[in-house]
Amino acid sequence: MSDLIVGVDIGTTSTKAVAYDGSGRAYASHAVGYPLHEPVAGYAEQNPDEILAAVLTTVHEVAATVDAPVAGLSFSTAMHSLVGLDADGAPLTPSVTWADSRASRQAERIRSSANGLALHRRTGTPVHPMSPLPKLVWFHEQEPALCERVARWVGIKDYVLLQLCDALVMDHSTASATGLLDISRMVWDNEALQLASITAEQLPELVTTTTVLHATSKTTEAVGLPAETPVVVGAGDGPLANLGIGAVRPGVAACSIGTSGALRVMVDRPAVDPLGGVFCYALTEGHWVVGGAINNGGIVLDWAGNALAPDLPEPPVEKLLALASRAPVGCGGLIMLPYLLSERAPHWSSLPRGAYVGLTREHRREHMVRAALEGVCQQLSLVLQSMRAASIEVREVRATGGFARSPLWRQMLADSLGMPVQFASGHEGSSFGAALLGMQALGTVPSIDVAADMVDITETVQPDAASAATYATLLPVFAELYDALVPTFTALRRLSPGLPMARSPRS
Ligand code: ADP
Repeated sequence: MSDLIVGVDIGTTSTKAVAYDGSGRAYASHAVGYPLHEPVAGYAEQNPDEILAAVLTTVHEVAATVDAPVAGLSFSTAMHSLVGLDADGAPLTPSVTWADSRASRQAERIRSSANGLALHRRTGTPVHPMSPLPKLVWFHEQEPALCERVARWVGIKDYVLLQLCDALVMDHSTASATGLLDISRMVWDNEALQLASITAEQLPELVTTTTVLHATSKTTEAVGLPAETPVVVGAGDGPLANLGIGAVRPGVAACSIGTSGALRVMVDRPAVDPLGGVFCYALTEGHWVVGGAINNGGIVLDWAGNALAPDLPEPPVEKLLALASRAPVGCGGLIMLPYLLSERAPHWSSLPRGAYVGLTREHRREHMVRAALEGVCQQLSLVLQSMRAASIEVREVRATGGFARSPLWRQMLADSLGMPVQFASGHEGSSFGAALLGMQALGTVPSIDVAADMVDITETVQPDAASAATYATLLPVFAELYDALVPTFTALRRLSPGLPMARSPRS
């Protein structure tokens, strides 16, 4: 066994640390969860010190379990978080996560302004409430007194590294997802800073993702590691998820359908869709990811179970999928727009709601469940279209996430994307990606490109030609439906305060 690198993945629901050796074998892992606080509808925030405590506990547990030397730590982080720190580095705000939508109106205003698309193209980040730029606009409009006291605006990983290593830095990957970085020059974008009402001095120092810091003695004592253990700054969890599944070569995309979903491909230089449908985030100087995340993945199946088939016995998912398998490809012309939680790529709008269109008297609930699953796949096909509009080639896909337990849904994804979809055995996603990046930084692997050969592909699902043709025919109809319904979505948003979800006791 060679020396181990611990990949630490700071996620939205938990932090997970996993120790890997140079061959990619996992030796120990530990996860600690923490709550996502929603004190006001639309808020989604976390306590930075709860996350710091989770990082220290997971690393401590892993270090205590393995019996080989730990050569270093390397980090992955949920992207787009924002924390305001005072001059002493203490948090003045919670960590406002990507899922927080308080800055929806600010994002819409910037997005529809004359410079909105240009900003997206320069920064690689869609102008969307998930990203720090509109959040900063929100803070300056809504909390000006607080902003006066904020010395630095940072991401959650920057705060954790400040505590672990006594250095305030932001890696290029995390920075490329703030909406504040000019990705062609890797410097803060003046126009974005002005919009956000901050200066470059209020942000951490920019560093490469392979920069090596050293843990302070306080940290190493707390987690039980040798003095000065190297800490690789690491990157955002999206790019590292591609690395973790070995989707590092041109034309090989990574797709996930868990609760939400994403499709991303690695390219060797920044590329942005001229129409602003996809993001472009950095990993290293020669590795970037282009793609899009969707809000509505497995959550759509969960909704279908609750709304359409609450009578199914527990556990309902398999029964629900068996029901869906009774409906044909294309569901007899029934289309579901799956925007139950509005949507991100490729429209990046908080307006849309879900819709069923094309119902006839013959349609039954199996069609409705299947149409919901097809809707998720078709949305990923729209992301694929946007990637192609940015002149990016995608030939095959490596997929992960809860959906992969269903052969029906696996086939549907291959058919909808119209390309082979590969599945890997037992990889740990972003924590493995972080560890690999750490191995490159510490010189134990020559390059992160080894990832392509370190991941075992256990199954490849080929698209069925006839089904793929049906989905390809339906895709433009699916896409046009979104555009056609924008006035309806707008009207519903205006009317929704007067349209409560539950009956009041007096009505
Ligand atoms: P997360 O994204 O939170 O890490 P997972 O990757 O485990 O979660 O995916 C969770 C989703 O997987 C659920 O929303 C659910 O709809 C879906 N799912 C759960 N079981 C199955 C199954 N047997 N077949 C297909 N999808 C499933």
